[in-house]
Amino acid sequence: MNINLSLLKSSAGDTINVNTVIESFQADFGKTDEISVNGNLTNNAGRIELNLMVSTVFHTECARCLEQVSFEVSYEFEDRIVFEESDEYISLESDEFNLDEYVYEELSLRLPFRVLCDDDCKGLCPTCGINLNNSSCQCDNDNIDPRLAVLKQLLDKKED
Ligand SMILES: [Zn+2]
Ligand SMILES: [Zn+2]
Repeated sequence: MNINLSLLKSSAGDTINVNTVIESFQADFGKTDEISVNGNLTNNAGRIELNLMVSTVFHTECARCLEQVSFEVSYEFEDRIVFEESDEYISLESDEFNLDEYVYEELSLRLPFRVLCDDDCKGLCPTCGINLNNSSCQCDNDNIDPRLAVLKQLLDKKED
């Protein structure tokens, strides 16, 4: 969705209200539902200020057990739009503001890329791969690891 800012740019005190739903966002590490965007763009004494509330549901997987996790996220975006080069603000080359692109970019920075299904998630067994939250296994992971570490040290020494 493109918002044309040419009128707003020249009318101090004016506001464009934004109440819309944009398509879901696919990140490398998860996917959102449709995204509701509510707020406004306001010309505040010649400065175009953006104030948006962005809400959706984020689906990703637990970093330990890889189970699907879904939860609501909601962010407040406060920004300023300028029509010159800027590292600090949203910098536009034309009067067209691409709302979807802006929201996707902000979400890619803010969505958490490491999520746990629970703070106490037990994760997967490193030996057999079973989900330790739901079941248990007979693997003796505590004893295997140090022995393998010693064996590896010996092999490394031989190679020298
Ligand atoms: Zn988990
Ligand atoms: Zn196991």
